[in-house]
Amino acid sequence: MTPDAARERMVDLLVQRGIRDDRVIRAMSRVARHEFVDQRLQAEAYSDGPLPIGHGQTISQPYIVALMTEALGVRAGGKVLEIGTGSGYQAAVLAEMGVEVVSIEHNDSLASVARRRLRGLGYGAVAVLCGDGNDGWPPEAPYDGVLIAAAVREVPRAPYQQLRQGGRMVLPIGDEEGQELVVIEREADGPREEYMGPCRFVKLLGRHGWAK
Ligand code: SAH
Repeated sequence: MTPDAARERMVDLLVQRGIRDDRVIRAMSRVARHEFVDQRLQAEAYSDGPLPIGHGQTISQPYIVALMTEALGVRAGGKVLEIGTGSGYQAAVLAEMGVEVVSIEHNDSLASVARRRLRGLGYGAVAVLCGDGNDGWPPEAPYDGVLIAAAVREVPRAPYQQLRQGGRMVLPIGDEEGQELVVIEREADGPREEYMGPCRFVKLLGRHGWAK
């Protein structure tokens, strides 16, 4: 099967699983996920599962990427902070939707591979930074959305405070065994939380996650 046909099937599956936002569907039918994994994994790039990207990390499952992107609800022209660039795939999906993306990755070799890859695929506007996402990224705040692509034990304060009012943070909260996908909206009188179901992510390292 060609990558295009495989991607079409992946997107059909996302719709079957309940993804409704056309903008997310359109973006995911355009981003070449097979370019974000190793050559020898390219045949599996459009199956609905996570895949290894080296350094013990993974590119997230397409359904989870779709669900988190939909839950963020950010419009074209909005700005999102992603914590955990990994392969750069999630950042590319947001960029494809016309969203301005600032993405932090603490592993410098993953960060430079992702930066080069994104540039090569036409997503050079994504800012990939090397640093600790526990602190968010104050210079570009406020954000319309914050997406944390690694498991945390608790809500990280700094990234929440870098949300503009009405902005949303989507993150997996739990322990090493499993987490719950949570959407937190910053409202005038405080955070409003919504639980979206179980998920399993690699660990965020540092203060709100686990020891390095
Ligand atoms: N969004 C990625 C998947 C991320 S996997 C994709 O689309 O491919 C989680 C990533 O978080 C890993 O690359 C890991 O190195 C990174 N990470 C872990 N702890 C971090 C921290 N404290 N700050 C920034 N990145 C971190």
